[in-house]
Amino acid sequence: MAPGIDIEISEVGPRDGLQSIDRIMPLEAKKAWVAAEAAAGVPEIEVGSFVPAKILPQLADTAELVGFAKSIPNLTVAVLVPNFRGAENAVKAGADKITIPLSVSETHSLKNVRRTHAQMLDEVSRIVELINSLPASERPVFEGGLSTAFGCTLEGPIAEDVVVRLAEALMERGCSEVGLSDTTGYANPGQVKRLTKAVKAAVGDDKLTGLHLHNTRGVGLANVMAALEVGITTLDASLGGIGGCPFAPGASGNIVTEDLVYMLDSMGLKTGIDLERLLAVRSIVEEALPGEPLYGFTPDAGLPKGYPHGYLPAA
Ligand code: ZN
Repeated sequence: MAPGIDIEISEVGPRDGLQSIDRIMPLEAKKAWVAAEAAAGVPEIEVGSFVPAKILPQLADTAELVGFAKSIPNLTVAVLVPNFRGAENAVKAGADKITIPLSVSETHSLKNVRRTHAQMLDEVSRIVELINSLPASERPVFEGGLSTAFGCTLEGPIAEDVVVRLAEALMERGCSEVGLSDTTGYANPGQVKRLTKAVKAAVGDDKLTGLHLHNTRGVGLANVMAALEVGITTLDASLGGIGGCPFAPGASGNIVTEDLVYMLDSMGLKTGIDLERLLAVRSIVEEALPGEPLYGFTPDAGLPKGYPHGYLPAA
């Protein structure tokens, strides 16, 4: 984490947001979006996913976008990969951080990537081998992201000991760290605390630092508060909660970055992000995807008078 920052926000809108929207955002608009968010102080951006263009044409320009984002100083350029082939492309493009999602629900895994847990873990091993073949200074961070960790639309509740076991397996295969994803928006604050503590206890406190939360049922920020209490320091969010939620019309997808920055900022937790500049980034997305709903309470209500100084304790 960059010095002077308490909580690191990872913007995932260009990946998680855009993959849920049918329309394709032009590459130039994506570049403008990424550049503007980095200029507002966002330290990490997940710019895309290395999946075949046939499956996600919205993200077909990920390699070019990684190349562009790498030219921005002090920005961690993150990508998602579904398999070894995706990781090869991510390494070639020069991504700083690679996340492979492993669905804790095996039903979901089979449906999504047509692979069992064992097959996915073998894929992880191959990727680790690839990364270790690179000179040490060129190795990306490799995160194993446990998706559907808080519940699955197909299987329903997910047993917490399975999440813990798979987190251990990912670390044994050589991942740098693990993350927990509330892919389906099922998580609640009690569960966030319990599962985070259990996984940290199994793999080490510093090997689980980030959560990927959605706001499908309106408890996204409550889940963030629970996460902060158990030592989580990196949070994914998307500008304008873009992408919405396919199974909850009117609900944002990811936690809205603007609302998250507002909450942390007003509590005196440093994110390094200038909220006014961040709010201005919305116009880039609005222009590139006219009519696409953008969510967020803070953008709608505006910043409180005297923000943020009036909300910080007296020095
Ligand atoms: Zn997501």
